[in-house]
Amino acid sequence: MRIYLSSLGCARNQVDSEVMTGRLAAAGHEFTDIAQEAEAIIVNTCAFIESAADQAIEEILDLASCKQQGECKKLIVTGCLPQRYGFESARALPEVDLFLGTGAYDLIEKALTKDNCFKENCILPPPEQTVLPAWDAPRSWNKGPVAYIKIMEGCGRHCTYCIIPRLRGSLRSRPAFDVAREACFLADQGAAEIVLVGQDTTSWGRDLKSSQRFSDLLKEVAETVSDRWVRFLYGHPDQIDTRLLKTIESHCNICRYLDIPIQHASDRMLKRMGRGHDKKFLAALFEQIREILPDAALRTTALVGFPGETNKDFTQLLEFVEQVQFDHLGAFVYSDAGDLPSHKLDGHVPAQEAQDRHDLLMMRQADISLAKNRQRIGKSMDVMIEGRSEDDMFFGRTRFQAPEVDGVTFIKTTSGPGEIIRVRITDADEYDLTGVPA
Ligand code: SF4
Repeated sequence: MRIYLSSLGCARNQVDSEVMTGRLAAAGHEFTDIAQEAEAIIVNTCAFIESAADQAIEEILDLASCKQQGECKKLIVTGCLPQRYGFESARALPEVDLFLGTGAYDLIEKALTKDNCFKENCILPPPEQTVLPAWDAPRSWNKGPVAYIKIMEGCGRHCTYCIIPRLRGSLRSRPAFDVAREACFLADQGAAEIVLVGQDTTSWGRDLKSSQRFSDLLKEVAETVSDRWVRFLYGHPDQIDTRLLKTIESHCNICRYLDIPIQHASDRMLKRMGRGHDKKFLAALFEQIREILPDAALRTTALVGFPGETNKDFTQLLEFVEQVQFDHLGAFVYSDAGDLPSHKLDGHVPAQEAQDRHDLLMMRQADISLAKNRQRIGKSMDVMIEGRSEDDMFFGRTRFQAPEVDGVTFIKTTSGPGEIIRVRITDADEYDLTGVPA
């Protein structure tokens, strides 16, 4: 069949989509970028917060029109939306022929080759049923400068605002040798940067019998692809230890970049969120990072408007952000839903008040990011070219700019995607930098 696949959500979902695409291509199916031409359409969805689920439904309804105006005979929805809403999504979306939950990705081939091969149109085995694809599983990635590797599935924690453990199941780590093989394979295929991702990346290995921990995996990958940039995202504060920081310090190809969502800095909120640590712990952690890796870039995520959050709590978060001075910060407004443990908590914050706090936090962070970026003017650094922006301007990223979530660096150059060039920074705004070849 000729297939169109729409991949929504995070980098981890993107890897699931690439593995599904790889499998189907290996089974002889073709892919098109034009939905109207597709005989089958797959939408791999995200539903970790309400707005993501709304976006998925919009995309599904938009693509469902191809069944009337295009070649489409089969519309399949996979991933977190059916896993979260189950048969309710089937009732709400009769346009969809089949729903495959996060435990059923392996059934995508069967779903496309045979009609009515399932008793029901909603297949929701436990998420743990998904077999983690090995390094040599067919996977079609865009062969761009960046390749993501999903090193695990699921999460063993129970943050009260988070639906992910229910959607993705308990923590399952891939063997270190398998991840290192995949890094080698992707580097051979042209990846200049390898990004390790998981739901709770730094907890990799906690489910394995071996005493290996994430710092061991990171070391193995960095030494396997020693001439490529290596980065990891979605760290957890209580898994960032001296061993990990020393591993980063001793490997020049590991980006000195730490993505550590704090979510909040008020002890009351951290407790209600089930984060398992307090502000004192977080402050000591960032102090230790600054000691061992003084030039490290810090990214974090904060959740505002959580049930029970008072102005005093929010002020503590603002003050902590000012104190730590993160390079990058993403803020989210708490998204309530009946299937979350936090839904039962008292003190839900009015939407406008929560949004005002979000906007104030982002304004403060914009000032911090601008000041930090301005300090880089006149300095020279490595930039990995990613693509052309306009005319003869290209954009790329430094080691302290992660793909898709942080700003970029603009430069006039003749170098192509994946090439790493030395750049002297000449200008900066709160997100992006501009430079010239050094
Ligand atoms: S660690 Fe992350 S994925 Fe796991 S429950 Fe907490 S927020 Fe969700």
